Amino acid sequence: MNRGEAHRKRVPLYAKILLGMGLGVGFGFLAIALHWESFVHDWVAPWGVIFMRLLKLIAVPLVFVSLIIGVVNLKDIRNLSRIGLKTILIYVCTTIIAVSIGLGMVSLIKPGKVFPKDRQTEFMERYEQIVAEREAQMHQMQEVSPLDFLVETVPENIFQALGDNSKMLQIIFFALLFGVAIIVVGTHKVPSVVRFFGQLNLVLLKIIDFIMAFAPIGVFALMATLIVDYAGDVGIFSALGLYALTVILALAVIIVFVYPFIMRVFGKRTVKQFFKAAAPVQMLAFTTSSSAATLPLTMERTQKQLGVSEEVSSFVLPVGVTINMDGTSCYQAVAAVFLAQVLGLDLTFGQMLLILATATISSIGTPGIPGGSIVMLMIVLDSVGIPIEGLALILGIDRPLDMLRTMVNVTGDMTVACVVDSGQKTNTM
Ligand code: ASP
Repeated sequence: MNRGEAHRKRVPLYAKILLGMGLGVGFGFLAIALHWESFVHDWVAPWGVIFMRLLKLIAVPLVFVSLIIGVVNLKDIRNLSRIGLKTILIYVCTTIIAVSIGLGMVSLIKPGKVFPKDRQTEFMERYEQIVAEREAQMHQMQEVSPLDFLVETVPENIFQALGDNSKMLQIIFFALLFGVAIIVVGTHKVPSVVRFFGQLNLVLLKIIDFIMAFAPIGVFALMATLIVDYAGDVGIFSALGLYALTVILALAVIIVFVYPFIMRVFGKRTVKQFFKAAAPVQMLAFTTSSSAATLPLTMERTQKQLGVSEEVSSFVLPVGVTINMDGTSCYQAVAAVFLAQVLGLDLTFGQMLLILATATISSIGTPGIPGGSIVMLMIVLDSVGIPIEGLALILGIDRPLDMLRTMVNVTGDMTVACVVDSGQKTNTM
């Protein structure tokens, strides 16, 4: 180990990110007190944007290359379909558990019953424009055929798909196809193709290390900007405090009880080991509000710190980022029932079940980006007959809750990766 490496090892990544976050929050408050808002926007915010861009920049090549290597390492298509089916099944189960916790919590606490009526009109007017835009997006989505998600999974031009971060499923599809083709042709016949991707992966992992070295500055800038942007809206917490608390409690139950339980029973890692590996990932998810942007770090920590094999993590995690959103689905359930409570609609048991189903499905379609679930939440509301304009009531507080649900989303992906990995190792023993 050279001196540089020894020095780097001394300060763990989570401590560096935590320091960046803490200093960013402190600086944000200082900037408000000293009226440096425009300084923050002009000179600090761009560093956060650069950091987000770097994370997104590496996500597509990383998913593409590591998925191909993952499939090739599986050596057998039967293995791939077994892992694939198992992964999707576990993802759906954890999502259903998450929605049920959300529904239970909001029915117990009933935050909608204490929402001040006078704020209702104020919020409706304030967010009218945004709601109208989201509504148009929702109608666009509803106009397509129910099989559209399948159509959307198949790219017609791989270079176009690779050029668009929102086309992750198309990239996964092509990488799977490519990997399967290599297996069928036989790796011994195309050794240079296999070696090329293996070596490319090493280079990409090094780029992630470089980006992570920049993480403390990136999260500092993101947090400082967030605090400055949010400062004017503190009043919103008084009206929506109990709602926010309900979401936070439901998410906390998932992180503190559900995942550790699954990890102990099926994941074969100790809870301490798991959270030590997950901490920087959770912090990055919290600051960026994007599970897709967090993916490079999620993959690195899951492989290096939790020892999940490359073939499992490079399949389970990119798929998870796209379809597994426990935090989001739980949040959607709480939000839908909260709005029903505020608007005085009594939901029947059947409607609750409908929320369970639609929140599960819509979280699958939610992109892993900040505020990705807003349009999907409208679909949930619409399906149970809750007026979608109600969304205006909760938009103001969405960002902090988004940060928390994204944390849960990435933790869920890591948990399932460990479960699938230990199942795989038992099978091959
Ligand atoms: N921001 C979330 C994510 O990236 C999606 C959402 O719930 O809005 O996972």
